[in-house]
Amino acid sequence: MIVFTRGGWELEGAKRVTMQCPNCHNTTDHVAWVHPGGLQMGFLFSKKCLSTNKQYFLACPTCRQLSVELTKEQAQALRG
Ligand SMILES: [Zn+2]
Repeated sequence: MIVFTRGGWELEGAKRVTMQCPNCHNTTDHVAWVHPGGLQMGFLFSKKCLSTNKQYFLACPTCRQLSVELTKEQAQALRG
């Protein structure tokens, strides 16, 4: 599993998406990435924050940036 510096985890079972990274301009197999938005703040409020604030991205394995934000529906579609 690729470890990204910004937190989150790879979306389990999702397909890779081959695309050009807008950040490093390499064509790479992006992985679907789940980022728990507002994790630090959410922890202070309620568990509900953790479950509802997830953001989905395509992450570039070369430069480790979260290149493109996905909707939840797009992310689910990648899981097939
Ligand atoms: Zn990149």
